[in-house]
Amino acid sequence: MKRIYNDINLENRNSFGVKQQAAMLAEFETAEELKELFEELKPTKWYVLGAGNNTLFTADYDGVLVTPICSKRTILKDDGEWVDVRVEAAHDWDEFVAWSVDSGLWGIENLSAIPSSVGAAPVQNIGAYGAEVKDAITAVEYFDTKELKVVRIGCEECGFGYRESIFKHELRGVAIILAVEFRLHRTPTPNLGYGDVIKEVEARGGATLKNIREAICAIRVSKLPDPKELGNAGSFFKNPIVPSIVAERLRNEYPTMPSYPVPNAEDRVKLAAGWLIDQAGLKGYREGHVGVHDRQALVLVNHGGATGGEVLHFAEFVCSVVRTKFGVDITPEVNIL
Ligand SMILES: Cc1cc2nc3c(=O)[nH]c(=O)nc-3n(C[C@H](O)[C@H](O)[C@H](O)COP(=O)(O)OP(=O)(O)OC[C@H]3O[C@@H](n4cnc5c(N)ncnc54)[C@H](O)[C@@H]3O)c2cc1C
Repeated sequence: MKRIYNDINLENRNSFGVKQQAAMLAEFETAEELKELFEELKPTKWYVLGAGNNTLFTADYDGVLVTPICSKRTILKDDGEWVDVRVEAAHDWDEFVAWSVDSGLWGIENLSAIPSSVGAAPVQNIGAYGAEVKDAITAVEYFDTKELKVVRIGCEECGFGYRESIFKHELRGVAIILAVEFRLHRTPTPNLGYGDVIKEVEARGGATLKNIREAICAIRVSKLPDPKELGNAGSFFKNPIVPSIVAERLRNEYPTMPSYPVPNAEDRVKLAAGWLIDQAGLKGYREGHVGVHDRQALVLVNHGGATGGEVLHFAEFVCSVVRTKFGVDITPEVNIL
C-alpha cells in the first residue's frame, strides 16, 4: 500500500545520519501505485531514496522522495545448474546474498555485507573484492516516469561500467527500479584473487560459499566503519581513471603508487583514490564534525552532529589537497543532493 509522509525527518534514512528534512516522502509497493502517484502529484522534483547508504543530503529536500517498499524474492527458473531469481527493489541486498549462500548458489558471495537495497545495486553497479553485480544481473524492470509504464531491459542494455550504469545517465530522473533479475549457479567458481580474501578463506578451511562470505564480512568489519556507529557512505570518492601518460608521470615520482588497467581502454589507467588521499596526509584527518576515516582513507565520516553541508565542504577540501599534490581530480561516488 502506498503511504505519503509530509515534512519527514531523514536522520534514520541516510547512512551519514545528517538531520535533514524532506517536504514529502512517498512509499510504494506496486507499479500501479507509482503510476497513481505520478498522475496525482505530477512531481517536478523527485529522487528515489532506497536505503540511503549512498546519498548525502546537503540541505532540506523540497521535492518528493520516492521509496520502494516492495521486497518479494521469486525463483523464476531452476534447471539444476542455473537459477534465475527476481528480487524486488526494497529487498535488503545482504539478506539476498545470505539467502544465495545458504541455498548453495554462486555469483554474488563476494558482494557480501554491502549496505544496499536490491533496487539500488544496479544503479552504481555495486562492486567489491573483484566482483561486480553486473555479472549476476540478467535484467532490470523499472517504471518509466515519462511514459508511466513498466519497462524491462536486459543486462546488455544497462550500460554497466565501473560504478556506472544507464540509471546514472540516460535514465536518471526517468527510471524507478521495481525489481532486478539475477542468474546464479551451482558449480563453484571461487573468486579469491583480491587482497586478503584467499588468506582469510584458507584460514576458515577452504573455498566454500560460507567461508568466502564469512571471510569477506570479517575483512569488511575490520576495515570499514559501521554507519550505525559512525555515519558514512562507504567510499566517498570513485577511483580516478587517468590517461596512461599521467599515471606514468606519477609512477616515476611515487614508485609504490598502485594502478590498475582499465578494461577495453589501453590508454587509460585507474588509480586508487584512497592511496592518493592517504599519501596527501589526510588519513584520520578531522575538521570539526567531519573527517577521513583512520583505517580507510576513501571513507569520510560524520563524527557526530555534522550537517550535509559540512560533509560536502570537507569533501571539496580533500579533492583540492589531492589535486594540488598529484594534479589528479577525484570525484564523489556518493549522490549529493
Ligand atoms: C559502510 C558502507 C560500505 C559500502 N561499501 C560499498 C562497496 O563495497 N561497494 C559498493 O559498490 N558500494 C558500497 N557502498 C555504497 C552503497 O552500499 C551502494 O551505493 C548501495 O547500492 C546504496 O544502496 P541504497 O539503497 O542505500 O541507495 P540510496 O543511497 O538510497 O541510493 C543510491 C542511488 O541509487 C538510486 N536508487 C536507489 N534505489 C533506486 C531504485 N529503486 N530505482 C532507481 N534508482 C534508485 C538513488 O536515487 C541514488 O542515486 C557502501 C556504503 C556504506 C555505507
